[in-house]
Amino acid sequence: MTDLNLGFDPAALKQRYLSERDKRLRADANEQYVEMAGKFAHFLSDPYVERPIEREPVTDERDAVVIGGGFGGLLAGARLRKAGIDDICLIEKGGEFGGTWYWNRYPGAACDIESYVYLPLLEETGFMPERKYSGADEIRAYSQRIADHFDLTRRALLQTEVTGVAWDEAARRWIVSTNRGDAIRARFVIMANGPLHRPKLPGIPGIEEFEGHTFHTSRWDYGYTGGTSKGGLDKLGDKVVGIIGTGATAVQAVPHLGAAAKQLYVFQRTPSSIDVRNDRLTDKQWAASLQPGWHRHRMENFNTLVSGGWAEEDLVADGWTEIIRNLGVIARMKAVKEGAADPDELVQLADFKKMEAIRARVDEKIANPAVAEALKPWYNQFCKRPCFHDEYLDTFNRDSVTLVDTNGKGVERITREGVVANGQEYKLDCLIFATGFEVGTSYARRAGYDVTGRDGRTLEQKWQSGARTLHGMTVNGFPNLFIFSVIQSGFTANYPHSLDEQACHSAHIIAEAMGRQATRVEATVEGEEAWTAEVLDSLLDRRKFLEECTPGYYNGEGKISPLAASFASYGKGSPAFFRILDEWRAAGDFQGIEMD
Ligand code: NDP
Repeated sequence: MTDLNLGFDPAALKQRYLSERDKRLRADANEQYVEMAGKFAHFLSDPYVERPIEREPVTDERDAVVIGGGFGGLLAGARLRKAGIDDICLIEKGGEFGGTWYWNRYPGAACDIESYVYLPLLEETGFMPERKYSGADEIRAYSQRIADHFDLTRRALLQTEVTGVAWDEAARRWIVSTNRGDAIRARFVIMANGPLHRPKLPGIPGIEEFEGHTFHTSRWDYGYTGGTSKGGLDKLGDKVVGIIGTGATAVQAVPHLGAAAKQLYVFQRTPSSIDVRNDRLTDKQWAASLQPGWHRHRMENFNTLVSGGWAEEDLVADGWTEIIRNLGVIARMKAVKEGAADPDELVQLADFKKMEAIRARVDEKIANPAVAEALKPWYNQFCKRPCFHDEYLDTFNRDSVTLVDTNGKGVERITREGVVANGQEYKLDCLIFATGFEVGTSYARRAGYDVTGRDGRTLEQKWQSGARTLHGMTVNGFPNLFIFSVIQSGFTANYPHSLDEQACHSAHIIAEAMGRQATRVEATVEGEEAWTAEVLDSLLDRRKFLEECTPGYYNGEGKISPLAASFASYGKGSPAFFRILDEWRAAGDFQGIEMD
């Protein structure tokens, strides 16, 4: 379909996208990464703990143990407290609350979802973020504020890593074991481990040989670089630094590295799409004018728009909602109005148009045409996580910054002194891995512990041939256990919104069970089979889109198996999923759940 008015040739673009994808497809897909274990375990050490805690093992009994002190765990605690459940213990590996925002405090770390919808519980805590997009420090401090507000610090066990969770059928209690010798008995357990919890390294030959300084972005070594998450890396002035990876993390860190290092090499396999960010201070008058209920209303408005739905107004009005306005709603509405035969074709055209604008932005910003060409992304917008930054591209105009594009192949090898790419060795003082987090590896490996259920079978064993859940949260054979994750659940770009829905839903079920004095709450086999079938069915339309995408963690690095599909999110989107949960709770019959 060539339309002279479009200014581009859709058939040629499609061909280019497919050939760029083909360059990047690899037989080892997700297996290309190495686990941070054994000789790589030191990459996981916590560089942020100021005062290591010394304490005796705990063997108390609690109504609820919540694993994770990020937004998932904090929301679970807050919603349980609101439902009248007081006896809660949060367990967190890090030294403070914050979860992903505890670990990810690399220079430039900030949220690129609007903070007025991203930060949960704003009305409850009476907090208003300083800017439209909060920085990592503010988000970490806000996490502590939630903990204080809901009195979740009491009994919390920080610097404590769960090592196993096992069901005691005779007592109908979970026993939660930790690396500090704790054996806490719990009536209910909520697993809020986080979906991007375990950093990963690329399996590049020679990776263990590098003798310079090295770390992963989620364990930033400020002792080496100087500065803070706001930048000012004043110890890098005489250092040659390399960074592998150009995803959402690198996009935020590279401008600070580029400003500080004597020389920076950015090793790129696939460029990100970099849209306008346009951060600004919170308008105090606007904040003062907000009426009760504004926060939920704004979250729902954002979620509707980013899920391709229709809303009268666009309250957030940023790059995210603009993308979707462009991609989904406008195209579909036009298709309906004009009786176009194939609305999907229009959505594709809208995507081409959006990505043409992203590529044109690269040309506007980058002085060297060859560098500009290498920074252009050739895939549909939602094949990878869209990025928003106003300084990333300009960084490549600095004389001290070199883009080492590998034409989709990635880095060849790592040596004692540096990195080899395109046949050339780049000698480095410091090598930073911005290579992301495990997705699609086994659940227990990512969580760092396994769960042993009612009949002695572990969750890992149960899910070996595919995930099976009711609403992504409860599992037959694993009573009184609630899982917060993206698996068979409603995924949204505004992930804390999804966590809050899961927190409200599980608090509702737990409160009911406590009220009935039930000692077992469990998904039935029929309940989880029906939901799993519904999830698989909902994904049929999405498969083609993902197959045509450039590899990444959204599409199993290009390998989509039926097994992987069972671990995917509900395909009809989070608004539909949240409605299903609302209706399920309103029906009041707890369908698919047994309580006794
Ligand atoms: P990603 O997984 O998105 O990126 C990893 C990067 O490493 C990719 O650029 C990848 O290239 C590259 N890479 C992997 N192996 C090699 C190799 N052998 N040679 C060269 N390059 C390689 O991780 P991020 O940490 O950037 O982001 C993870 C997620 O965290 C985001 O998707 C987002 O959800 C979240 N995030 C959110 C932020 C926010 O503002 N809310 C900010 C930052 C992150 P390739 O693309 O070719 O695979």
